[in-house]
Amino acid sequence: MEKRALLYSGKAKDVYATDDPSQCIVHFRDSATAFNAQKKGEIADKGRLNNLISSHFFHLLDQRGVATHFVRTLAPCEMLVKRLDIIKVEVVVRNITAGSLAKRLAVAEGMPVNPPVLEYYFKDDALGDPLVNDSHILAFGWASAAELSIMAAGALRINDILVPALRKLDILLVDFKLEFGRVAGRVILGDEISPDTCRFWDANTLAHLDKDRFRRDLGGVAEAYQEIYRRLKGGTPNV
Ligand code: UDP
Repeated sequence: MEKRALLYSGKAKDVYATDDPSQCIVHFRDSATAFNAQKKGEIADKGRLNNLISSHFFHLLDQRGVATHFVRTLAPCEMLVKRLDIIKVEVVVRNITAGSLAKRLAVAEGMPVNPPVLEYYFKDDALGDPLVNDSHILAFGWASAAELSIMAAGALRINDILVPALRKLDILLVDFKLEFGRVAGRVILGDEISPDTCRFWDANTLAHLDKDRFRRDLGGVAEAYQEIYRRLKGGTPNV
C-alpha cells in the first residue's frame, strides 16, 4: 500500500490518498483541540492510542456485522480505510447526561437517560457544529430519509454493542459522536471511536477517562487515554 498525496488535514487526523482510489490512509496525530479549536494542545502518544483504540472498536463492530470504513491497522498511528463521501451530520448518542446536553437543559451531569438520547449536529466548523433535527437534515439535503434512518438505527445498534462490552471493563459509555459516509451506494460508519469522541467514565469512581480531562484541565490526560487502551487490550500499549 503506497501512501500518496495529503488529501485533508483535520484537527487531529490527516488523510492521505493511496495507490488504490477506493482506499485512504488516516494518520492520527497527538494534537488536541476543544471548544471549536479555541483551545489547542498536544496529548503525548494520543495519535497511536486513538488509532489502536479505534481499530479495536471497528474490529469489534465488524465482528458484530456493523459495516465500517476500517480495512486494517497499518502502523502505530495509521489506519487503512475505505474512502467515503462523509455526510455532514454528526450523530451523538447519550446514555448519561453530560457536556452540552447537561448545559442546554440545565440538568446535572451523571443522570442516566433511557432510552438513549439521539442528537444530530450539522458538521460545520465555522458555525460551531449547531444542533439540528431530522427536519433540517432533510430540508437542506444533507442526507436523504433513507440515509438518516440508516444512521439513526446504526448509531443505536453501535451503542447496544459498545455499552455492554465496555461495562465488562468497568467503563461507562456516557456519550459518543459518530460520522457516517457514502460508498458504492451504501452508508457506513467512518471517522474514529476513541477518547477524543466518546465520554468514558470509570464505573466505580466515575473518573473521566477521555478528552474532558483536556477540555476541563483535569490533569492526567495522557494517562486516561492509556488507561482506556490498557483495559481494552489488557496490557500496556506496545504495538
Ligand atoms: N463530540 C465530538 N466532537 C464534537 C462534539 C462532540 O467527538 O465536535 C463528542 C464528545 O466527545 C462527547 C459527545 O460527542 O463524547 C457529546 O458531546 P457534547 O455535545 O456534550 O459536547 P461537548 O461538551 O464535548 O462540547
